[in-house]
Amino acid sequence: MTWLVTGGAGYIGAHVVRALVDRGIDVVVLDDLSSGHDSFLPAGVPFVQGNILDGDLVASALRDHAVTGVVHVAGFKYAGVSVQRPLHTYAQNVTGTLVLLQAMAEVGVSRIVFSSSAAVYGTPDTELVTEATAKNPQSPYGESKLIGEWILADQGVASGLAHTSLRYFNVVGSGYEDVYDTSPHNLFPLLFDALLDGRSPKIFGDDYPTPDGTCVRDYVHVSDLATSHVAAAQRLDAGEPVEPVYNLGSGEGVSVGEIMTAVRDSTGIDFTPEVAPRRPGDPARIVASGELAARDLDWVMRHSLADMVDSAWRARSDATRR
Ligand code: UDP
Repeated sequence: MTWLVTGGAGYIGAHVVRALVDRGIDVVVLDDLSSGHDSFLPAGVPFVQGNILDGDLVASALRDHAVTGVVHVAGFKYAGVSVQRPLHTYAQNVTGTLVLLQAMAEVGVSRIVFSSSAAVYGTPDTELVTEATAKNPQSPYGESKLIGEWILADQGVASGLAHTSLRYFNVVGSGYEDVYDTSPHNLFPLLFDALLDGRSPKIFGDDYPTPDGTCVRDYVHVSDLATSHVAAAQRLDAGEPVEPVYNLGSGEGVSVGEIMTAVRDSTGIDFTPEVAPRRPGDPARIVASGELAARDLDWVMRHSLADMVDSAWRARSDATRR
């Protein structure tokens, strides 16, 4: 069994790669390094540099490495930016998924685990999102992920593709000192960048209808998330039933204000965040039940919020020193 991880040189993909390798599963990585880093790849893992839109390259990677399943993490993941760049977002996330599935069909690879997102829900009208909650994506990014899920499901009907889509909530933390979130748009990296540069971190809006006025999110540790990808791959390899979608959420809401406190405690840096205007498109609160994933995918919160903040800060500040 060899699994291809698209986007395997990115922050989340690299954790998935290492989790698969740790379980003795052979892995090959395809990544165009547009937001990934080859330094995140463990030694000994074959690496194909290129974009998923290159169908010939994808097909030869599948063939050359006798791939039996794909974890499809590659994609354009910036919801806010996707509003300005819809065509790019759809090309990478929708056409990219189509090209990948075409190559898989051509080579005869029939298992896929797809990185989907909480963004498919938009602003949910419920305290606790379940897989059945209405999907109302608010950005081309969220739309593209929902379309990706539909394409997998349709291909499942048409060709027997075994598939599951994992809807990520707010993925943070680091499982390894040398792999960290380098996104220029997410809370943790922006907050850490500000602290490392001696600037005040920003809170985007403190007038939301939440207990402290700041947005509430469901933060999950990237290593717990990676473990569930391994479980999903193993279920597909074993021919065991899987749901078409799983929420990888913890059921716990944490506000941006509470994150600021956790970061002050973890770093020992006494800072005062600056309150900035709301960021367009941000839901006030989104928190999900991970019950289904707990049942099927070994989805367990093995890390506290303090673990998430400590490990993320350690990896990010070490990288600055290196
Ligand atoms: N956020 C913030 N300051 C920042 C970056 C993000 O207050 O510098 C807030 C953002 O408005 C959201 C939360 O932090 O409420 C998480 O944002 P992120 O971009 O990490 O993830 P999202 O929930 O948008 O997927």
